[in-house]
Amino acid sequence: MQDNTVFSHCPLPSEPSEWALFLDLDGTLTPLVDHPSNTHVEERMLELLDGLWHALDGALAVVSGRSVKDLERLLAPLRLPLAGQHGAERQDADSKYTNIEPNHEALEQSRQALEQFVEQTPGLFLEDKGASLALHYRNAPDEADAVKQKTHALEQELNGALKIHEGKFVVEIRDTSCNKGRAVQDFMQSAPFKGRCPVFVGDDLTDEDGFEAVNALNGHSIKIGDGPSAASCRLESPAEVLLWLEECLKRVTRS
Ligand SMILES: [Mg+2]
Repeated sequence: MQDNTVFSHCPLPSEPSEWALFLDLDGTLTPLVDHPSNTHVEERMLELLDGLWHALDGALAVVSGRSVKDLERLLAPLRLPLAGQHGAERQDADSKYTNIEPNHEALEQSRQALEQFVEQTPGLFLEDKGASLALHYRNAPDEADAVKQKTHALEQELNGALKIHEGKFVVEIRDTSCNKGRAVQDFMQSAPFKGRCPVFVGDDLTDEDGFEAVNALNGHSIKIGDGPSAASCRLESPAEVLLWLEECLKRVTRS
């Protein structure tokens, strides 16, 4: 049995109608692994997400840099509300899908430049998500400076068409209009999220937009791990997130 005092530093819901929960996936619900395609959401986490989604009357969404298609695969058989590619795509629990049309020309120019760079630099991996690109260097951390230099130069060449966003061992290239904060604001416009207290949980730089969005709405922001952050509180690791979600579920099913 989890001791409630363990989470005295982190908020817990007191009733089912109180919270709208927004969760990042990689590094939050699952540990980071060597390659994004090797990520696996463990069974207990899927059970918790399902339990919370039902208990919160559907006010739980996964907000990730991954594509919606990829999120569906990782979270199957659950059908949760999803914001993919930092909000460029959105899918509601009833499978209604909307997306922002990306700048295909700028993306193609970036893809060509980065494919060439990846070929010349062992250990790098370029992920094409459709509306965005992600250059991963978790298997070549010594190339961090070269990756940042290359992507900054590319951003300048693109002249504002796309922006780069640095994360943990990854640099993403995407539209400037999408971020996790806007994805949260978008969900909060309608049921079942509207009127609830938003809570955002994430581990990386791109989650800072989500933290700022919920802070502005008097919600709770929870950062996983170390590093500077606008978040109001912290959990140590995905393992601790699991324990915290278990406690959240107990609170909202008890009331
Ligand atoms: Mg993450």
